[in-house]
Amino acid sequence: MKILEGEYWKEIPIYKDVKEEEWKNWKWQIQNRLKTLEDAKKILNIIDEKSFKKVSEIYHFGTTPYYIFLADRENPDDPIVKQIIPDEKEIDEKYQEGALLDPFLEDKKSPVEGLTHRYPDRVLFRATNFCSVYCRHCMRKRMFLEDERARTKQEYDKMFEYIKNNKNIKEVLISGGDPLTLPNTKLEYIVKNIYEIDHIDIIRIGSRELVANPFRFFDEELLEIFDKYDKVWLVTHFNHPNEITSETKKAVKNILSTGTPVLNQTVILKGINDDKHTIENLMRDLLKVKIKPYYLFNCDPTKGVYHFKTSIEKGLEIMEHLRGRVSGLGNPTFAVDLIDGLGKVPLLPEYLLEKNENLYTFKNYEGKIVKIKV
Ligand SMILES: *Cc1c(COP(=O)(O)O)cnc(C)c1O
Ligand code: SF4
Repeated sequence: MKILEGEYWKEIPIYKDVKEEEWKNWKWQIQNRLKTLEDAKKILNIIDEKSFKKVSEIYHFGTTPYYIFLADRENPDDPIVKQIIPDEKEIDEKYQEGALLDPFLEDKKSPVEGLTHRYPDRVLFRATNFCSVYCRHCMRKRMFLEDERARTKQEYDKMFEYIKNNKNIKEVLISGGDPLTLPNTKLEYIVKNIYEIDHIDIIRIGSRELVANPFRFFDEELLEIFDKYDKVWLVTHFNHPNEITSETKKAVKNILSTGTPVLNQTVILKGINDDKHTIENLMRDLLKVKIKPYYLFNCDPTKGVYHFKTSIEKGLEIMEHLRGRVSGLGNPTFAVDLIDGLGKVPLLPEYLLEKNENLYTFKNYEGKIVKIKV
């Protein structure tokens, strides 16, 4: 965990006059996002300008000042730089072969625009297509091709109506884009309307603001919303230990004080975190700040993202490494999302090698073979 002390942002020349009440204000972070090549060049001098321009015209660029501060800004292979700075591979057919814009048919299999109802008891609710950072590996990269906008109240109302009329739905997963980039009034409108539907037990908010803009959770109004509508769970998206700082820890403490559990989903990304020691450190650091690792995903076959793919075996190797070495609390579920919306499949290394009548042959975390009569 990176400890950030004093007025740490002042080490970046363009932020030397920024006051603490600005830097630590979530709205300031969003208003002062870097959005263009010119913005990025003020901070990074490692940019391949030609490919940045070409790619960002198709899949836009964006980051908060805080998030880019966390990068080693001299290193093009830095894991944060690679998640944020456009790369020519995103538009190179050679790397995107077999990838699809909407591999899970989220739009096609949508009963009402903005909703995807794949599993009987849960529905995905896409509230906006705006994010404060645009991750190069985003599984909804197709939304980068649209204008940045939140849905209208009328659109939300149609979505609520569908949920109200489907009593099987127990959980609404509010995602986007990033729903926590919405102003509090709009967010509360969504959360309140869902909360008031009796058959909804869980409101799961999927957001990357804890990673890109932890100051979102320094906002008392947001914490009050979490506290008041107490069906809320937060699922965030850390991919690398360098993303976890003392600001993260403060933010998580605030969230937990409202009774809201905090979980994490990581995607295995080639050249960023596809290494068992990196993932081990990430899981340990998540636990230190009290975030429970939930999923570890294999990279989706999404167009613009597929150059980050690794093999299924790589994921299994990481899982084998974690088991027995890291607290069970720090062992996520490794999963592959099947195309065409066929659902997520959990995968584990083989621990049950053979079954013969009532004699079971297991392999333990050290690779020891154990035969047990069960
Ligand atoms: C991933 C996903 C969910 C949630 O699945 P969990 O296994 O409960 O995390 C729900 N709906 C859709 C469409 C999804 O892609
Ligand atoms: S939806 Fe999430 S992963 Fe995609 S760009 Fe926004 S913050 Fe990044």
